[in-house]
Amino acid sequence: MTPVNHILATPIEYLKGVGPLRGDLLKKELGIYTFEDLLNHFPHRHIDKTKINQIADIHGDMEFAQVVGKLVYIGSVGENRARRLVGQLQDSSGVLELAWFQGINWVEKNLVQGTTYLVYGRVGFFNGKPQIVHPEMEVFVPAQAGAKTVLEPVYSSTEKLKARSLSGRQIAGLTKQLFSQLKEKDIDENIPSNILQQLQLLPRFQAYYKIHFPSSPEDFEGALHRLKFEEFFVAQLRLQLVRLQRHKSSRGLVFEKVGNYFNTFYNHHLPFQLTNAQKRVLKEIRNDTATGHQMNRLLQGDVGSGKTIVALLSMLLAADNGFQSCIMAPTEVLAQQHYNGLSGLLEGMSLKIELLTGSTKTKKRKEIHAALLDGSLHFVVGTHALLEDIVQFNNLGFVVVDEQHRFGVAQRAKLWQKAAIPPHILVMTATPIPRTLAMTAYGDLDYSVMDELPPGRQPIVTVHRNEKARASVMEFIRTEVAKGRQAYIIYPLIEESEKMSYEDLMQGYEQVKSFFPDPKYVISMVHGRQTPAVKQTNMDRFVKGETNIMVSTTVIEVGVNVPNASVMVIESTEKFGLSQLHQLRGRVGRGSEKSFCILLTGDKVSREGRERIKIMCETNDGFKIAEKDLELRGPGDIEGTRQSGALNFKLVSLVNDKDLLEQAKTVAAGIVEKDENLNMAENLPLKNFLQKQKGKTRWSKIS
Ligand code: ADP
Ligand code: MG
Repeated sequence: MTPVNHILATPIEYLKGVGPLRGDLLKKELGIYTFEDLLNHFPHRHIDKTKINQIADIHGDMEFAQVVGKLVYIGSVGENRARRLVGQLQDSSGVLELAWFQGINWVEKNLVQGTTYLVYGRVGFFNGKPQIVHPEMEVFVPAQAGAKTVLEPVYSSTEKLKARSLSGRQIAGLTKQLFSQLKEKDIDENIPSNILQQLQLLPRFQAYYKIHFPSSPEDFEGALHRLKFEEFFVAQLRLQLVRLQRHKSSRGLVFEKVGNYFNTFYNHHLPFQLTNAQKRVLKEIRNDTATGHQMNRLLQGDVGSGKTIVALLSMLLAADNGFQSCIMAPTEVLAQQHYNGLSGLLEGMSLKIELLTGSTKTKKRKEIHAALLDGSLHFVVGTHALLEDIVQFNNLGFVVVDEQHRFGVAQRAKLWQKAAIPPHILVMTATPIPRTLAMTAYGDLDYSVMDELPPGRQPIVTVHRNEKARASVMEFIRTEVAKGRQAYIIYPLIEESEKMSYEDLMQGYEQVKSFFPDPKYVISMVHGRQTPAVKQTNMDRFVKGETNIMVSTTVIEVGVNVPNASVMVIESTEKFGLSQLHQLRGRVGRGSEKSFCILLTGDKVSREGRERIKIMCETNDGFKIAEKDLELRGPGDIEGTRQSGALNFKLVSLVNDKDLLEQAKTVAAGIVEKDENLNMAENLPLKNFLQKQKGKTRWSKIS
């Protein structure tokens, strides 16, 4: 933030031509309070008056058109709420239709038939004729003869502002006015000059000037590039400094040695060879836990990449150093499954492991509480039950949180408050996040990626089928079941209409039964309205292979492991998001047999829905799917990053500016490595800038 006595901190009403009334409007309508805010109200495009389209040349592949013509007609059609405004603009080549559905009164009052306008907007076609809906319009002023290209900035404005003579054009006037009062030093440089030079970036003042008033498209690009780089660079630098600070200030337990438990398991019990990704992550954890700082690591690994074994090996490391560990899972089913899996793996080793969930019997629960307290229990697997105050550890050293996004930050923090020196934390998520998003949202954490699946996995064959093909889909399930395989059929659970989804599920269940009337087919069902005990029984029977088909809502989504299941049918696929579809699909393809995922839909699927289905059919790679998800939905909606302050970017795009982000990260790392306190002369401008900005953004830890 700019210091109060700085010219940029001047309230906007003091700018020549603004005054109190218009000042108030700028604040209310556009959030422009100060000179600085006006400076940061960037134009959303520039008019290049040399680039005028002929109306006759407008065609379907054109996204936007800019034309000059006379408004030969304007009038309204329809009544009341259906009322809209239509216009016709004519140039020497043809007629362009214009239409307005909103703000009609203002348009009607302000556009004058017979006047020549410069018109810009998104090209559409209506009854085969070119049309622009809600065009930007301004009275055409021809460029002066012989003038070189001048790009005029166009700013967003609102009806209320326009009514007070603050149209986009008038805002341009104010911005120009502001620049006439500013000196180069008023827009402080914040990037060290050696870096400016090395990367050939425009100085800050110039970049600000040229993003508003470029004299050529290249000029504008240069300004935009500089400001985008700055945006990433400042964010990366801050994240890296926070991370460094956290490492330095957090005291952590030291796992000095790799001992008997780890070695015995590794050499005699490990049922397979670790993948390189698993080895790498294990090494990262080993390094972290040896430093004396608390580890706070996010492990992203696609479904089936083998995160569990990495967790177990880390827990063995903790045990070797005399510490207890726990694994927290989001559901009873998952906790139970982890418990079963881990007890199996640990068989023959002198380590104690227990399961603690909401349905653990009182007597057992008391025993577990006591054993945790006296230290005789090494590992505990559980649900939220672990967070209760009564659960106390003798010396908790390692915490694994599985499927991270299901737990709130505050909830998880309860766990590490259970020890004087906080335990090391490994948060595991099977929801891959695109690299750019991870870098910006989790840049202050340590994170590991497992982007490799264990060998021998067969890719899951994914197809899209119409509802009408249901009978043949059921027939396909029958052939798989005949081979001894099992199948899932999943129904969406829509929160707003839980009742309806429940009824859909029941209907679906009856329908499935009608396809498999022979009693040799056993069908089970799991949904959120069942008691945990019933859910568990049904789940267990499917896990043990006692039932052939599992009809379920998404309660089985996360982490359930039934390697014998080879078919996943997803009903009403269009209702699921990409990451959820990917999670669901990950329930099959866990064994050595070929597996199939069938995406069912009705006839009507939205464009986005079709896009999602296409991606699912094309790839099994969770990271690719995550990239696509980011592209389709934008960063604000991606799981787990919603609350992150890291995403309030103004200019950059996490989809289109990847390379710039990588560059900014590398440059920031170089600075932090050489001069973490930013005391070198060349880094002082940066230090000043960051100090001024302090308090503006809050970067939060996710775990
Ligand atoms: P996720 O990362 O989805 O939690 P899991 O840890 O459940 O994956 O592992 C999925 C399956 O892969 C398990 O059956 C596990 O035993 C197996 N697995 C894990 N690592 C390897 C490996 N390196 N080689 C072969 N199989 C492995
Ligand atoms: Mg898992």
